[in-house]
This record gives sequence, C-alpha cells and structure tokens, in this order.
Amino acid sequence: MVSEGLLRFFKDNPMVYGGATREELEQLSRIHELYPDSARLLTDCMAVELPFFRCLRCGQCCAIVRYITVCHEDVKRWAFQGRLDILDSLAIDERRTPLLALKKDEIKAAKAEAWALLESLGICSLKVYRLLYVTRLLECAVYVKRSNGACVFLEEKGDMAACSVHDTKPLVCKKFPYYIGKYTDSRLIKEDSFCPSLRATKKKK
Ligand code: SF4
Ligand code: SF4
Repeated sequence: MVSEGLLRFFKDNPMVYGGATREELEQLSRIHELYPDSARLLTDCMAVELPFFRCLRCGQCCAIVRYITVCHEDVKRWAFQGRLDILDSLAIDERRTPLLALKKDEIKAAKAEAWALLESLGICSLKVYRLLYVTRLLECAVYVKRSNGACVFLEEKGDMAACSVHDTKPLVCKKFPYYIGKYTDSRLIKEDSFCPSLRATKKKK
C-alpha cells in the first residue's frame, strides 16, 4: 500500500519512478515508512543516468558494503530453489526485529504464509521460517554474512572477483549501481567512490 503523499512524490519525479513497477514502489514506500530519517528517496534532480555502466569485476562493492540486504523475494526464491546453503549464510538483524511489534495485525498472516510455503516445499527449518516472515514484514532486516572482511559469496578468479551465487544473487546486487531503471544516486558518483567504474563516470562528465 503506497500513501497518497508518496504517490504524489513518485508522480512528481517521473524520470526516476516512471518505469518502476508497483512492487518496486511498494518496497520503497515500506523502507521509507520504516526509516523516515535515513531512507532518502531519489528525486529527478539527484538522479544521474547511467546508460552504459560496465562492471570491472574488482569486487570492491562486495567487500566494502557492510550490509548486503536481502528482500522477501530473494528468500522465497532461494527456498523454491532449495538453496539452503544460501539461506544458511544469511543473518537477521535483531536490532530491527523489535519493529515487528508494530505489525501485530500482519504477523499472524505472515507466519501462516511462511509455514504453508515451507510445508509445500518440504523444508523443516526454524531459521528459514523466521527469514520468510521477517522479510515479509520488514525491509533491511536480513543481510548476507561476511567472512574475511567481505561478503561470504565473494570469490577470486585470477585477477577478477566472482560471485559464487551469481545466477541467483540478491536483487540488491543485481541492481547495483542502479536505483530504479537506468538511474543512480549522484552521491554514489564522486572522486572517492569505492567503485572505479562510477569514478570513471565522474571523470567523463
Ligand atoms: S565496485 Fe563497481 S566495478 Fe567493482 S565489482 Fe562493484 S560494481 Fe563492479
Ligand atoms: S552476493 Fe555476490 S554480488 Fe552480492 S555482495 Fe556477495 S559476492 Fe557480491
């Protein structure tokens, strides 16, 4: 459910939100509702078009970004794929879970939905059950664990970095550095950006 105010905001910034799906807008509004002080929504003025971004596979993003968050769609996909190895590599941010108390009306339905899904897939895991209902109700509350200062899925292949779960990686990784569609946040493009490809974009401008 997207509030009237946010619907107006999305309409006033057609460049960024014009091509967004209903699900994307709903996800953004949930994040904004939960973290009104920290979750900034991108306006057309702050957006930079990146039509030809090329990843150099340096792996900096996988090492530097501390919280690679995963969403409900990611958790559901991995459950369907039987990727218990991936689900086992996720952690729930328990600093966020007290927020579940604000969702009293929805928690019963979210738990029932999680239980039914696990039953249909023949998965018996309390952890996956929690991952499902927590991500159903909260954004940015589940993230990929780290090891040796980087995402656990980061691998080295010769001079290049590789993602060991590339085919099914979290949506947030699939999207980076795009916000929605082909735009990114101008704050990401700066001289000290951790991403060499974004730094190069700055030089070309
Ligand atoms: S930091 Fe940029 S260039 Fe390096 S792997 Fe990440 S997206 Fe690609
Ligand atoms: S899941 Fe893959 S792409 Fe995402 S941070 Fe980890 S190694 Fe990088």
